[in-house]
Formats: sequence, C-alpha cells, structure tokens
Amino acid sequence: MNDETILLMCAQCGTKNRIPKQRIHERPVCGKCRIPLPVGAYSDRPRDIGDSEFHKEVLVSRDPVLVDFWGPHCAYCRMLASTIDQIAANFAGRVKVFKINVEEHSRTPSQYGIQGIPSLLLFKNGKAVDRMVGVLSRDEIERRLLPHIDKS
Ligand SMILES: [Zn+2]
Repeated sequence: MNDETILLMCAQCGTKNRIPKQRIHERPVCGKCRIPLPVGAYSDRPRDIGDSEFHKEVLVSRDPVLVDFWGPHCAYCRMLASTIDQIAANFAGRVKVFKINVEEHSRTPSQYGIQGIPSLLLFKNGKAVDRMVGVLSRDEIERRLLPHIDKS
C-alpha cells in the first residue's frame, strides 16, 4: 500500500504526474514546469462542498469518500469536527473527506435521508455503503472505514 500512486494533472502544462500517495502532503510540483500540483480533494483538510459539487466530488470518485453532514448550530457537530480533521489527515490520499453544511444545502441531505446531525455517510463507487449517526470515536469511524479501502 505504501507505494500506491495517484495521477495528478498539471493545471498549467497538462502533464500527468504520478505521485506516491504517501507524498501528497509534501506539496508536490509538476515534473516539467515545477508549479504546484492541484492536490485539491486529496488535501489533508476536509473541504466543505455543496449540492452542486456532490456528484463530481463524491459520486464519481474512484476513492472512498466520507461525507460529514453538519450544521453550524450543532454542538455535537463541533465535537465531531476535530475527529473528522484527524481522520482526513490520517487517510489523506486514500479516503476523500468532505463536509456538507445542511443549513446551506438541503438537496443532498434529503436525498440520502439525513434526519439528524452529525451524520457521516461513506460512499464507494457512487453508493452509500455505511452510515454513522452521532458522535462516534475516531477508532470506531476508522474501524468502519478500513474494510472499504483498497489494499493493493
Ligand atoms: Zn506542468
């Protein structure tokens, strides 16, 4: 698993750069023109997305995606937030982690029957494969992620 690589296309020259997933944190640059590569969805911080990005970022992703449905007025969501940050850092390059603010975006939460927050949904190949509701421990969440991560 340690020599797994991903392909990142340079935004400037279009060269496809093969980057070991382990090095995704090291601000990789294009081998040809040396500009920083768009690590974007592979960054180690969970990124907020909305309904309009859901299909592009989650459903067609080749990697498993963990989506944290949260709201700014939810105390339990704040408790879970640091755990989600840690998981995003720990699984960077293997699992994409996004957050959806349910007060700003309602289409995706209703589509997936989100009734309480925080709720975590794990997607693989466009399908929701696990659902975790409430404040779970980091260990518990990681235990449920692991079976869905490709061991190649
Ligand atoms: Zn380039």
